[in-house]
Amino acid sequence: MGYPHKPHPRETVVLSKHFGDPEARTYKGWVRRGGYEALKNALATDPAAIIEEVKTSGVRGRGGAGFPTGLKWSFMPKEKTKPHYLCVNADESEPGTFKDREIMRWTPHALLEGTAIAAHAIRAEVTYIYVRGEFTEPLAILEKALAEASTAGVFGNMKIYLHRGAGAYICGEETAMMNSIEGKRGNPRIKPPFPAAAGVFGMPTTINNVETLVAVPHILKNGAAWYKGLSLSNPKSTGTKLFSVCGHLAKPGNYEVTMGFPLKDLLYELGGGMRPGRTLKACIPGGSSVPILNREESESCLLDYEGCVEKGTMLGSGGVIVFDDSTDMVYQIMRLARFYAHESCAQCTQCREGTAWTTRILERILTGQGAMKDLDLLLDLADNMTGKTICVLSDSCAAPVVSGIKKFKSEFEAYITGKKRPVAA
Ligand code: SF4
Repeated sequence: MGYPHKPHPRETVVLSKHFGDPEARTYKGWVRRGGYEALKNALATDPAAIIEEVKTSGVRGRGGAGFPTGLKWSFMPKEKTKPHYLCVNADESEPGTFKDREIMRWTPHALLEGTAIAAHAIRAEVTYIYVRGEFTEPLAILEKALAEASTAGVFGNMKIYLHRGAGAYICGEETAMMNSIEGKRGNPRIKPPFPAAAGVFGMPTTINNVETLVAVPHILKNGAAWYKGLSLSNPKSTGTKLFSVCGHLAKPGNYEVTMGFPLKDLLYELGGGMRPGRTLKACIPGGSSVPILNREESESCLLDYEGCVEKGTMLGSGGVIVFDDSTDMVYQIMRLARFYAHESCAQCTQCREGTAWTTRILERILTGQGAMKDLDLLLDLADNMTGKTICVLSDSCAAPVVSGIKKFKSEFEAYITGKKRPVAA
């Protein structure tokens, strides 16, 4: 069960430093590696000062939205009239993303330490760590670590519970996750009210991603200036980021690099490049729900929030999905649309009908029954699915369709005109 790769010389290993080190999973092993020092100091520090330091570091949410973490913490009510809650989003359901489960597998105490610091900073009495149901191994490791650290008394009066999800993609959306924790169907809620005003059980709540929280002890230990200094790019994207790289390349895996790292180098140097005889065709840099980049865009993209936006996509969760020149893009886009149709909670008409019809139209194109007007129909549907629903699942389905038609239109046309043989969809 060793970790698959030794760090590449161009990686900056901060969060993944102890991946592959089984002793780091134990409470004693973690303490020997300097673990829980940051928590001890944090518990003796005023929560407002911790929030200020995290704000100054510039760390942004690593779950996909990229919202500044310190600012999010500062939204919790200053006057404490109700109990505060912290929810840790360990659902990691975005296709192409597999970093949070590795954090939990190898460094469960890092997550618990970051979680306890966040709970202290927002003055939360209760924390729920919402772990994806399929993560049986990470969950067992985390459970053991929580028991060990609790016995050692490092959390004081804080209550930290592990909550196992049931495997719905939509429960990775923060408001759906809160409903799920409450024992309700995992449907996203309309915002406002935002979680800091009325979150889980109607109480002020902050929701943070695993990777975000694991960065916090390092920020407090080494200082906000150190964290900001790790960035290769600009003051708006700071620190390191774990990228899960998968698909058609020689060495898929998790790689930790500084913000602003060139995507081209991640793919060709760290990821070992394409398979023999193959060339890069396209890449989705931020998990399946962001627009697709073509080869030229991929090879000139810098991996930070702004660099991805500049290329018309998003950094998202950092799940980098690579397609080589053997890929049928129409088929891949249909598979993505089918996934979103399956995972839609069906509350919103645009999403329920839009994801289903997008899938059906793509299936008919692939099976040789499409017409040229279907391409306009897909774009029209995508327009109606974007920015008009309770959560962004609908937008997530539309993004690869729109970018796919824009960048790989000839592949759709080849199916429609009969230049390409139909396939079973
Ligand atoms: Fe549910 Fe889709 Fe609406 Fe999100 S956009 S709330 S998944 S129907």
